[in-house]
Amino acid sequence: MHHYNQPLGGNEMPRFGGPATMMRLPARPSAEGLDAAFIGVPLDIGTSNRPGTRLGPRQIRDESRMLRPYNMATRAAPFDSLQVADIGDVPINTFHLPKSIDIITAFYAEVLGHGCTPLTLGGEHTITLPILRAIAATHGPVGLIHIDAHADVNDQMFGEPIAHGTPFRRAQEEGLLAGNKVVQIGLRGTGYSAEDFDWCRQQGFRVVTAEQCWYTSLAPLMAEVREQMGDTPVYISFDIDGLDPSVAPGTGTVEMGGLTSAQGLEIVRGATGLNIVGGDLVEVSPPYDPSGNTALMGATLLYEMLCVLPGVQHRD
Ligand code: MN
Ligand code: MN
Repeated sequence: MHHYNQPLGGNEMPRFGGPATMMRLPARPSAEGLDAAFIGVPLDIGTSNRPGTRLGPRQIRDESRMLRPYNMATRAAPFDSLQVADIGDVPINTFHLPKSIDIITAFYAEVLGHGCTPLTLGGEHTITLPILRAIAATHGPVGLIHIDAHADVNDQMFGEPIAHGTPFRRAQEEGLLAGNKVVQIGLRGTGYSAEDFDWCRQQGFRVVTAEQCWYTSLAPLMAEVREQMGDTPVYISFDIDGLDPSVAPGTGTVEMGGLTSAQGLEIVRGATGLNIVGGDLVEVSPPYDPSGNTALMGATLLYEMLCVLPGVQHRD
């Protein structure tokens, strides 16, 4: 008998059957008693281009059916030493973005109050601001590993201070981020001005453009990131559009020349040993993802985040 929750195995129930929870884990009504929880935030009312990420959490859960408990590359065995479950979705108000922001913060405050680490299925990138508000209220300002095609530091979008292109501008202004411990990886594409990424650099963020990642392993970069972060609490925010559209076409704001799936895995695996206090995978838009591979990549990256949480054991 296992002491910890286990994903429902493919030899107990066919993988296309049974409840569509994340990794076929048990569903729980709250984070009480959990070390880590998968949480869906089905919000896409802060998006600027193609919508559809409100359907992301369900599709990520569905595609996660193929994920098995053990990590064959890193030997991580997250279900040997952590109590993990899927606690469902945040009941956002889909007619009211500012109210939804406050609903999300309150939900995560409750989760964190149980000592539970949240791993979030988005939803678009607006959701990271209210999550970071709750995280910083619990842990103080956090280091940030942000993977994205976009810097998401616009001052406003269409006059609005909160939208999916502004979360890290607001987070920095509100003191939610630990000064010189922010790294942004995969930035690229076209800008409104040639200086679009310079605001980040002026804040002391480390900007690693997609071009700096081309044709190379990101393991050495992550060794530097581990050095940079030290034992500071760190949050991982992974926008699926950081990856190349050949890997992840199912998203709203596509940019060519992105990271490979292997580089995405290297980034998350490279966070091993850090004091990870939460993570999200955002911007999966199922209507643009006919194969389901974008959602599967998202599910896989969330599993890899689980594998690098503090307290995860590794098999010899
Ligand atoms: Mn983003
Ligand atoms: Mn993006």
